[in-house]
Amino acid sequence: ANAATNNLCPARGGYALYTGGQEQECTRRLSLMGDLRKAIEQNELLLYCQPKVDIASRRVCGAEALVRWQHPVHGMLATMEFIKLAENAALITPLTHWMLDAVFSQSYAWREAGQERALSVNLSAHDLYDPLLIDRVQGLFSTWGVRPELIQFELTESALMEEPSMALEALTKLKKLGIRLFIDDFGTGYSSLSYLQKLPVDSIKIDQSFVMPMVESNDSAVIVRSTIELGHNLDMEVVAEGVDSQAVWDLLATLECDVAQGYLMSMPMPAEQFSDWESEWEGHLTKGKL
Ligand code: C2E
Ligand code: MG
Ligand code: MG
Ligand code: MG
Repeated sequence: ANAATNNLCPARGGYALYTGGQEQECTRRLSLMGDLRKAIEQNELLLYCQPKVDIASRRVCGAEALVRWQHPVHGMLATMEFIKLAENAALITPLTHWMLDAVFSQSYAWREAGQERALSVNLSAHDLYDPLLIDRVQGLFSTWGVRPELIQFELTESALMEEPSMALEALTKLKKLGIRLFIDDFGTGYSSLSYLQKLPVDSIKIDQSFVMPMVESNDSAVIVRSTIELGHNLDMEVVAEGVDSQAVWDLLATLECDVAQGYLMSMPMPAEQFSDWESEWEGHLTKGKL
């Protein structure tokens, strides 16, 4: 057993007694880990996209790229679960590389079809320590000829806080490539204002746990409002995630939030369906139905 195995199955590290149930769970995770390695190698992951919509104009202003894994036996797996698995099993680097390839080739395909569209990719904390990341991204820009403004990266506030000085270094290099950077799940980490101010980020995404209840919960509404003000004071664009009702949209519009993402507009969809979805959305817009 190597470190990765122990990490997934603490019982096998020899410091915990395990029951049958735990052993079963370990076996399941170990076999999923092997399956995930194969899925990445054999190109069985899927690229999904969820629209981001500019609140003032109601126009689509980009999309978030989200990975999906359709397991041959277990079906579509929960993303959070296999991302955690990938992070613990040192598979996040190949997964991120797979996503980057998928995102650049999608971006190229859209441009060929006359549709330029910004796409954001989620990075894990580990990606910030990947010595090959910058070269890889640079290589993809020259291979596909995608404009830097169209590629964006999302990093969670907690990933940035794991090794703040390394994170700052990595973000600075990415920023030099012309990439736009977002702080994801904002409000759930513990970044200080002074650190935040040093980061070369363009945008913050308010975590859905504050956005979803903001109509019923005054506490959440206060947090969302202060985050919007904070972002604007630091010259950042503010995105709200988890916008799943008209009431939430309306309140965000009142608070002058810039961008909304959530089930109200659309769930994440296979990338190849995005253009059709967007035409339909634009159609409703021009007919004044939105
Ligand atoms: P995230 O980056 O915060 O992505 C937003 C998640 O919220 C997505 O879940 C999306 O489907 C979900 N969501 C969006 N709007 C709504 C809504 O209105 N209601 C509800 N209930 N949910 C909404 P998903 O796709 O399952 O992804 C979960 C997390 O997994 C992501 O959170 C991100 O942290 C991670 N993830 C996804 N794809 C990747 C990837 O390619 N690489 C890495 N490193 N992480 C990824
Ligand atoms: Mg994200
Ligand atoms: Mg998020
Ligand atoms: Mg989130």
